[in-house]
Amino acid sequence: MAIKEVSGDELDAYLMAPDCPQCGSDDVTMTDSYPDGLGNIVRVYLCHKCGHVWTETVPAH
Ligand SMILES: [Zn+2]
Repeated sequence: MAIKEVSGDELDAYLMAPDCPQCGSDDVTMTDSYPDGLGNIVRVYLCHKCGHVWTETVPAH
């Protein structure tokens, strides 16, 4: 097996990456995530196709 190990968190982030709201590409990476201080997590996404950057707020679990 030559598959590099990926932590559960990274895999979750990869699997949950949304499509780009600008161009619809799924070539999207979560570049950052941080707590917003209100019990939620702010995720920052970058689209590699069009360069669009946006954030999504999700409940921390
Ligand atoms: Zn895009």
